[in-house]
This record gives sequence, structure tokens and C-alpha cells, in this order.
Amino acid sequence: MTLDVAVIGAGMAGLAAARTLAAGGHTVQVFDKGRGIGGRLSTRRTQWGAFDHGAQYATVRDPAFSQYVAELHDKGVVHVWDSVRDGAIIGKPGMSALVKSGFDDQDNIGVTTGFEVAHIGKVAEGYVLSDKDGEHHGPFDKVIVTAPAPQAANLLQAFGDTFQRLTEIRYAPSYTLLAAFDNPLDIADIPDLGDDSRLSIACRQSARGPNRDGTHDLWVVQASAAFSAEHVEREREAMIPVLLRLFQDGVGVDVPQPVYAAGHRWRYALVEEPLGEPYLLSADGDLGVAGDGMLGPRIELAFLSGAHCATAMGDL
Ligand SMILES: Cc1cc2nc3c(=O)[nH]c(=O)nc-3n(C[C@H](O)[C@H](O)[C@H](O)COP(=O)(O)OP(=O)(O)OC[C@H]3O[C@@H](n4cnc5c(N)ncnc54)[C@H](O)[C@@H]3O)c2cc1C
Repeated sequence: MTLDVAVIGAGMAGLAAARTLAAGGHTVQVFDKGRGIGGRLSTRRTQWGAFDHGAQYATVRDPAFSQYVAELHDKGVVHVWDSVRDGAIIGKPGMSALVKSGFDDQDNIGVTTGFEVAHIGKVAEGYVLSDKDGEHHGPFDKVIVTAPAPQAANLLQAFGDTFQRLTEIRYAPSYTLLAAFDNPLDIADIPDLGDDSRLSIACRQSARGPNRDGTHDLWVVQASAAFSAEHVEREREAMIPVLLRLFQDGVGVDVPQPVYAAGHRWRYALVEEPLGEPYLLSADGDLGVAGDGMLGPRIELAFLSGAHCATAMGDL
């Protein structure tokens, strides 16, 4: 029987779930509250150039993910970034391409962005997804939620004890700085940050593969989990000078005033305590949860969780 399935979230887990269901002959509609596709594989385009301000790179170990990455290689949207880690890959021209291009040419998959699901309602014909203004889509036979666990738990609290387990999952935040400078900073592309435990990585964007050259020197600087947790409730604007100072302290050279700077708060950045199972499924098999919260803080683990959840739900 062909199912109509809704997938909430157009990140790596949502993509894998949607493709698995579509490959099994089912019809899938994916919804994301964001303006674009990719979730935490995120690329911000500005007049100064593009910043990869979410996940920095993906590792490829699992055969199923490796097969997906081979397909992306054929499409020309992968760059191997050995300078950060052996075999690490990034998207070309930006990280979001690792998800976006996976949705290309998928006849049975539709994607709706800019729709934040506020409520999942059960009706006689299935499940209806509504936003806070009452706009709705559906009914669908089944729903997979791939939002970070605390957000998934909110959406699924009316649907029984299975989803109570989502409250066991813990994430660390990441405060991230995006900055563009008029002239190149005199430091390495991925500078050694010494033993400054307040930073996790700083990366020159033009070093992230071809098509990245611009008129300015663009940087993404990510604070450590501990430092981000301490400052997570602070406003983004207020964090810009704090993060610039951290950057300067970390690289040990004078950092001039940027021509562009923005702060980004990832409240749920990296999973610290995963569930330890690939997915959750309601007793009737109609509602599922996937995402990195299930297996751990890596892009490929999000992919595997989405694929496994869809396989179980679609009886594939
Ligand atoms: C700063 C940072 C650095 C990282 N570095 C790395 C790294 O180097 N390597 C690595 O492997 N991983 C890294 N990660 C982790 C990696 O990005 C994640 O594990 C992975 O992208 C998670 O994918 P996902 O599909 O589970 O979740 P997400 O990518 O978060 O996708 C969930 C989607 O659901 C949408 N959504 C949520 N609620 C709703 C709603 N109510 N209605 C509609 N849509 C909704 C969101 O907009 C989002 O697009 C990093 C993450 C961050 C933030």
C-alpha cells in the first residue's frame, strides 16, 4: 500500500527519511520552518560572500552514507577537505548542498519551507499538521519528526509514553561568529587556538574549497560548548564583540574591526547524550522520530537515523 507521509525537518535526517520512503514507493511531503533546506548544515549568503556557520564537515564511515556521498560526488557538490581531517567532506559551494542536492530529481518528494509545525492533530483520515495561525497540511497516513529532541517532544507530547524518552536526550549549544574583514588576516586558514578552551574552531571560508574566493576575508568562529552554554541566553548583537575578542585572544594577533559581523546561536548544536537507539516509533507505527539525538552528534548518524526510521515505518 502506498503511504502519504509527512516529514518534519529538511535537515540530513529528514532528507534520508524522505528518500528512503520515496524509494519504497511512498509519497512524501517535507516541511521545514527555515527559509531553506539543510538544517544545521547551513550556509548563509551575504553581500560579502558565503559562510558555513553550522556543521563544519562530515565524516564518512557507514556504507549507506558513503553510497549517498558517492552520488553527491557524481553531482559535483562535494569537496574533500583533508586539511581538517583525513577524508572529511564538505558541501560545494556550501554545506547545505549536502542536503539540498539530495532532494533534486526526487519525483515523490515535495518540500515546503517556511512552515513551522505547531501542532500535529489526529483526524479520522490520518494526521494534520498546523502552524500557529491555523494554516494546515494533510491528512497524512504517517508522520516522521526530525526536529531536535526538545522540539520533537513538544510536538509529540499528546501521543503517548514512547516519546517521553525524548527528554533523556541532551544537546550542547554553540555560539558562532561570522565576520568579514577588508584585508586578509595574517593567520593560518584553520589557526591553532592553543589551549584556549573557550573556542572550538575558527576557519577561513575561502579555504573551504573552490568557488569561495571573494573580495573580503571571511571567517567563522565557533565557541566551545562550555563557553556557549554559559552565554546562551545573551543576545546575538551583544555576543559579537565578545566573540571577536575570543578570536583575537585565540589566534594571538590583532584582529581589526570587521566590515560585517553577525552572531548565531545554535541552541541545539551537538548532541551530548543521545538516546542510543536509531529511532522511536509509536506502537501503531504511525508516528516516528529520527535525528542526531538518536545516535549521536554527527551528520552521518543523523542520516542513518532518518533512513532506519523510514525503513521501519514504511515496512521496507
Ligand atoms: C555549530 C555546529 C557545528 C557542527 N559541527 C559538526 C561537524 O563538524 N561534523 C558533524 O558531523 N556534525 C556537526 N554538527 C552536527 C550536525 O550538524 C548535526 O548532527 C546534523 O546536521 C543533524 O541533522 P538533523 O537532520 O538531525 O537535524 P537538523 O539539521 O537540526 O534538522 C532539523 C530541521 O527541523 C526543522 N524544524 C524544527 N522544528 C520544526 C517545526 N516545528 N516545524 C518545521 N520544521 C522544524 C529545523 O528548521 C531543521 O531544519 C554541528 C552542528 C552545529 C550546530
